[in-house]
Amino acid sequence: MVVVSEVAPDVFQCTGTHVNWYLLREGRDLTLIDAGWVGDTPAVVASVVAVGCDPRDVRGIVVTHAHADHLGAARHFRREYGTPVHMSGPDARHAATGDLEQVRAGEVLRRIGRPGVARWAADVARAGALRRRPLPGAIVLSDGEDWVPLDLPGAPVPVSVPGHTAGSVCYMLPGGLVATGDALVTGHALSRLTGPQLPPELFTGDLAGALASLDVLAGLDAHVVLPGHGHVWRGSLGEATRIARWRAVGAGASLRHDARRYDTRKQDLRHDAKRHDTGKAGPWQRSGSSKD
Ligand SMILES: [Zn+2]
Repeated sequence: MVVVSEVAPDVFQCTGTHVNWYLLREGRDLTLIDAGWVGDTPAVVASVVAVGCDPRDVRGIVVTHAHADHLGAARHFRREYGTPVHMSGPDARHAATGDLEQVRAGEVLRRIGRPGVARWAADVARAGALRRRPLPGAIVLSDGEDWVPLDLPGAPVPVSVPGHTAGSVCYMLPGGLVATGDALVTGHALSRLTGPQLPPELFTGDLAGALASLDVLAGLDAHVVLPGHGHVWRGSLGEATRIARWRAVGAGASLRHDARRYDTRKQDLRHDAKRHDTGKAGPWQRSGSSKD
């Protein structure tokens, strides 16, 4: 199942199993930005057909970062059609071995026991989250500092935004669009927030790096965010990154608190019992009443 919508002329957002990918169309030629889970492969192919093209028309796949929910269909395209796959050096090294900088679904389930997470874990397990699939032979992007368009349909310009993974990249597109991958998202199956935010912290390799990369994003001349998870955001990148930063260091702290809360249920039960005893509010109530 895939949902495809044209978010700008010849730019399509496609949503599979709790994750987005994007198609850039130029005539009959396409660039695919990210590639869903491996189980999303038929959905990626369906999205290509939905925009009036054939899988052979995909001239290149550009990957924002080497996580299993963004690499999935790349192997299929390369094997079947010889489609080149581009990503940063650090992430290409992880993809080549299949040893990704990524928390495993079972670990997420163990650490966040909140309602809805089990469903997410079941969905992504079905989509291939538990399978380890090396993807060697990616074409390594230059260091992402020179901001030169790739010779691909839609002229994506890679910009280095490390943090979520060591080699995370976003892609600037003509018309003030930027595909941010998971360097900046607007929702996530495991987040209660909607709008600009960092993904839940346990998915982030280096939080300080991810925060620093928000400054890079804030400096881009763009006003449409095409995130790896969540809906398209239209507005100033400065505002989007300010909101994401505030949530990461402000309300985000309450999210981390939530993770700890579910991690230590027994302790919470004790706290709960105490709260009922004394009638006083526990500190966790603060996060629960956050307006986000
Ligand atoms: Zn992701």
